[in-house]
Amino acid sequence: MNEISIIPVGSGSTGNSIYIEIGKYHLLIDMGIGFRKLRDALSIHDRNLNDIDAIFLTHSHHDHIKAAEAISNHTCCKVFAHASSMFNIRNIRSERVIIDTGIILEILPGLLVKMFPVSHDFAQTCGFTFSCEGRKIGYVTDCGKMNENIIEELSGSDLIIIEANHDLEMLKNGPYPLQLQKRIRSKYGHLSNDECADTIAILCDRCTKNFLLAHISLNNNTPERALNTVRNRLGRDDVFLYACPAEGNDLLTF
Ligand SMILES: [Zn+2]
Ligand SMILES: [Zn+2]
Repeated sequence: MNEISIIPVGSGSTGNSIYIEIGKYHLLIDMGIGFRKLRDALSIHDRNLNDIDAIFLTHSHHDHIKAAEAISNHTCCKVFAHASSMFNIRNIRSERVIIDTGIILEILPGLLVKMFPVSHDFAQTCGFTFSCEGRKIGYVTDCGKMNENIIEELSGSDLIIIEANHDLEMLKNGPYPLQLQKRIRSKYGHLSNDECADTIAILCDRCTKNFLLAHISLNNNTPERALNTVRNRLGRDDVFLYACPAEGNDLLTF
């Protein structure tokens, strides 16, 4: 079976960029990590920015697009996103392709991509599934509220990258003002460890056994807390869990 490979180069409010290989394709989700960091993380594993076949944007909050210009100067692939995200990257060099939610698109031969809506405080934030040669990856971060539609889209994935943004106790007792805490907890905010764990429990029962926890807050969470919350909720050890670091260069293969 063909391998899926992931390099979680950046994850969280300091910048998001996840590199993915599925089938023969090299993909990048979001352009929120500096071009040099991205280039260096890829080169450790003999990967090259020039090899990226397509870039996908979840939404255009700063932590997801802040390196768009620099990255697009070093790639020649297209950037795919919802119309609402394109305005904020209108000056980049790459060709920008507007795609819509709810439709399965064959972006490249044999690579099926489906974008689906996610509740967050940006006009149209999106999650994705990528399917190629019998393998499937699901991706959802910046998600204020999980729902059955998202779970349905993610179901059947070999690997799911899912937000575990905050620990509720740490958020409550942390440095953020009440208003900001409310925003994070709201349905237009971010997914908590508990909500992430509940979602993973459902998806485990639908045959997914590999999960990467992403967009972990530096102020209101720790990778250990996120992992422990999910592990305790699952109560089983046949599931692979990995906490994406704020900046990293691990190569994970599935
Ligand atoms: Zn966001
Ligand atoms: Zn974000």
